Amino acid sequence: MEVQNTFPGELEWINGPEDLGYFSLSFQAKGPEGLARLGFGAYRFKDPDSIHFPEAELEDASTRDLRPAQQWLEQCLEGHILCNQPGLHPSALPRRLIQLREETGGLQARLIESRVFPRPCPYVTLSHCWGPSPLYSLKSHLLEELASDIPLPNLPRTYRDAFEVAVRLGFTLIWIDSLCIIQDSASDLEDESSRMADIYGNASFNIAATASASSKGGLFVQEEPDVPWPHVVSIDIQIGRRFLRGDYTLVSHYFWSSNVDRSPLNTRAWVLQERFFSPRILHFGRDRLYWECQDLLASESFASGQPAFEFKSEARQWGYTPFRKLMRVNLGSRPHLQSVIRRAWYETVQNYTKSELTYQSDKLVAIAGIAKTFQSVLDDVCIAGLWKRTLIMDLLWCRAGAESTGLHRAFDRAPSWSWACLDCAITFPTWALEVPTVMATMESVEVRGSVTHQSGTLRL
Ligand SMILES: [Zn+2]
Repeated sequence: MEVQNTFPGELEWINGPEDLGYFSLSFQAKGPEGLARLGFGAYRFKDPDSIHFPEAELEDASTRDLRPAQQWLEQCLEGHILCNQPGLHPSALPRRLIQLREETGGLQARLIESRVFPRPCPYVTLSHCWGPSPLYSLKSHLLEELASDIPLPNLPRTYRDAFEVAVRLGFTLIWIDSLCIIQDSASDLEDESSRMADIYGNASFNIAATASASSKGGLFVQEEPDVPWPHVVSIDIQIGRRFLRGDYTLVSHYFWSSNVDRSPLNTRAWVLQERFFSPRILHFGRDRLYWECQDLLASESFASGQPAFEFKSEARQWGYTPFRKLMRVNLGSRPHLQSVIRRAWYETVQNYTKSELTYQSDKLVAIAGIAKTFQSVLDDVCIAGLWKRTLIMDLLWCRAGAESTGLHRAFDRAPSWSWACLDCAITFPTWALEVPTVMATMESVEVRGSVTHQSGTLRL
């Protein structure tokens, strides 16, 4: 690995040294959008050449090296105890699946009804941004035609890439929303949309088109990084009475969060449920592959696990990871764990309200599957995004950010005392979990209407 003699910018501060083999530093460097302040962990790897930073180059689904993905998948299926616990939901197949087969002329795909299978069998799912253009999708009049053959040239590139990836990783069944739900049937849309927890939760893994803002973008975006990394610097400085000397590899504090948590896909509100329920996710990031399961966060650069110091999604760290660990716990016998679950809900909602919705009327719909799962664990009732048993404390939600004027309040969507009536990020103060004395009592609460249009009365 080539060692640079200088920092790629002006060194601002350095923090450390620490005894963990790394320290933090920040510097200013010129990027495409001007001068930026960059924060890094500086690592002294025992074997720097073991850290793989793939070149950003144009690749496609047939040539991309998928060995890291194969290894993560095998490692997870065979060795991760947490990832292989049976979930809350009985193992079942989605109503329809796409069956893939390799023929001499290339890959073939057709739509099948899963009832043809005598028992559940392995399949994968796809998470993707639909994008602004209409997608080739399943309509009632196409059911028979697609059951015999799905015309691949009509499909967006992300779908074709996902087919190729699934087959190369040993799977012949894939579920994709627009091809497996009849888009002009209200009843099919309603039935299948209510089963997202099962559909994503029972899949072997989820293929995530993480870097692609539309389904035309494909899985392999391959953007050039802003700054060429890795940057290995030779350091010889003194801090206090300690000396830092040697070759250090600089890794951004935001390596994971900027490529995965803040990617075009994961800033979409609907995708939160897909990420929440998927047991394993193979992210196709803008410059490399990333792996996310309950036991491991990894990337092609850090195949055996991301550096511990990185900033990662709080929704994951405090939200669905602890929630999943507790899914099968009987909270009745361990009441102190209630607050862990409640915090997981708060973090999930906070993250959710930061995400983007095309239709704000979907505010409570797009999180309904997650709420239903929490409901069965908490044995409580979700009322317009708040929990009946802790409703008074849950009312402590507030808008994230200082301004409180000029904000649209959709009272036709949710009652004024629910966070769901606002189109903005909200937060729950952490002390809401530990209020020592509650000075109010709830006399009654009532909500009316559908999940998209709720109104309600709360009497304290
Ligand atoms: Zn795992």
